Amino acid sequence: MRKFEDTYRHKGLRKKLVDQLREKGITDETVLNAINNIPRHFFLDTALDNIAYEDRAFPIAEGQTISQPYTVAYQTQLLQVKPGDKILEIGTGSIFQASVLAEMGAKVFTIERQKLLFEKTKNFVLKGKYPTIKFFYGDGFEGLPTFAPFDKVIITAAAPFIPPKLIEQMKPGGKMVIPVDEGEHQRMLRITRNPDDSLTEEAFENFSFVPMLAGKSR
Ligand code: SAH
Repeated sequence: MRKFEDTYRHKGLRKKLVDQLREKGITDETVLNAINNIPRHFFLDTALDNIAYEDRAFPIAEGQTISQPYTVAYQTQLLQVKPGDKILEIGTGSIFQASVLAEMGAKVFTIERQKLLFEKTKNFVLKGKYPTIKFFYGDGFEGLPTFAPFDKVIITAAAPFIPPKLIEQMKPGGKMVIPVDEGEHQRMLRITRNPDDSLTEEAFENFSFVPMLAGKSR
């Protein structure tokens, strides 16, 4: 049985990571504070313990990745999370992004298409700390019509296009943050669904994500 400990050394490394994120341009203190409160090394293999607080992505199971802290901070900042927000996340992966949202007081509905990664969420070590995260095994292109509408939608895989069903599941005034394919990279977009149902699209930096794939995988 793995023993999960958050030592002073881990906390010190985490503070340094947060300082780096600030230097790289993250200004939302509620986002920085959430990252400062979450032991990222809990989400990684023990072999990666020493480098868990470097600002880089790491492999998890099934050829998937835990996003780079800068990417998580960037997407979260764009999402303008408020306590009580109901948020749909596509791509549960390591659960790190979902934990950041829960730490900020959001109710998180997160979907993963890989069976094994979904099964792993049952043993999530911070389950007790974040009871507001609900896990679903399914295809993110479909969203979660039963639980819609959402205040915010965040896609953490490279989307080939903006999934229409996810737009339908947003509240008026709701926001979506989504990296959309432009060849080798993805452009980070923020879509706002206006009260008259028109959409406002804002474009930000380029990133590199694993692909958003259709259908479920066993
Ligand atoms: N948010 C994650 C990032 C994981 S990487 C974290 O914090 O660690 C992207 C994840 O999206 C992968 O686990 C991949 O399996 C998943 N994914 C890709 N396409 C998907 C889809 N259509 N529906 C749900 N999950 C999807």
